[in-house]
Amino acid sequence: MPETGRARDARGYSMNEHIGWALIGASNVARQWIVDAIRVQNDSSIVTVLSSSEERGAKFANENAIPAHVTDIGAILADDRVNAVYISTANQFHHAQTMAAAAAGKHVLCEKPLALRVTDAHDMIAACRTAGVVLGINHHLRCNAMHQELRRLLAEGAIGRLNAVRVFHANFLAQALHGWRINDAGGGGLILDSTIHDIDTLRFLIGSNPTHVMAMTQSGRLAHDGVEDGIMVIMRFPGDVLVQIHGSYTVPFSEGGVEFYGSDGVLVGRDCMSQRPAGRLFIRNADGEREIPIHHHNLYHYALATFSGAVRGRRQPAATGEDGLAALAIALAIRESALTGRQIEVDIP
Ligand code: NDP
Repeated sequence: MPETGRARDARGYSMNEHIGWALIGASNVARQWIVDAIRVQNDSSIVTVLSSSEERGAKFANENAIPAHVTDIGAILADDRVNAVYISTANQFHHAQTMAAAAAGKHVLCEKPLALRVTDAHDMIAACRTAGVVLGINHHLRCNAMHQELRRLLAEGAIGRLNAVRVFHANFLAQALHGWRINDAGGGGLILDSTIHDIDTLRFLIGSNPTHVMAMTQSGRLAHDGVEDGIMVIMRFPGDVLVQIHGSYTVPFSEGGVEFYGSDGVLVGRDCMSQRPAGRLFIRNADGEREIPIHHHNLYHYALATFSGAVRGRRQPAATGEDGLAALAIALAIRESALTGRQIEVDIP
């Protein structure tokens, strides 16, 4: 219950009160990263986990020392100990679950893609705003310390006027993830799973949205039924900056990276497109090449810390609902280009 005599947020929570989390989705990403990231925050704990399967929920709760598990979202919505939810179900459920959580006054950290349709993403943002709750999106790459330093350097003009960017985000999809990603034409596929992270990272680093996109995809090496498992994208950003992305589920032994080409130099990020706190940054210019030291932190710890800060009204989450909507709109434009063979003008409503 809210304490008395302390600062409170719009819904009456004490600003110092513990954040009680419900996990919506007994997912791999929750197990691997988020359970720990919530627990390292000194103001947060996990109250319960929702799975559509009683058996899977019980197993997940047991293995992760979560005190309760439920199969009905209503139990979470009605639980006063829960004031934030982390939604990591399959992509087609994000919209309805966010809408329900917002209506019940719960803060929402939602996995990407925010939704499958831009109109749904709009509704989610509006619902959270109306309810006075925080909506954050787990675009983790912008929480990587190397990308944060790269952003700072670009903003201060370390390589002059930006000319072109290349993103390398190809790998071989782990066997454990060979489910909906490669066989669900609605919610799966590389674009909404992985390319959308590249889009968010580019928006974060460059500080604007692309105006036009073109793409070609591959399918059939791993994915089937027309689901894409490889992609090359070309984008034009404001200032006539050309950007290229190579993404894949089917390329082993590849190191993810980014290259930024400017009028006065080049910034190269290596091994920086994963979930790990990794990445080396180099600058090359008239003085030669040097490595820029990076003090890494856990990406998900950072995301949860900023989300806690947002719940307390101190800051924005690392990626907002608007960031999630923009990334989705650009991802869908890329998919449209791949399907039609046309260059698509990006419209972010
Ligand atoms: P999972 O496939 O692990 O989980 C998604 C859902 O699938 C779960 O909610 C679960 O439903 C169901 N499920 C899990 N295991 C089984 C099973 N054995 N049989 C049947 N159903 C099962 O997904 P991910 O963790 O890979 O992804 C979840 C979300 O997180 C996605 O939106 C994805 O895009 C995003 N993601 C984000 C990452 C990031 O770093 N930001 C990284 C990875 C994923 P139920 O809850 O009903 O049990």
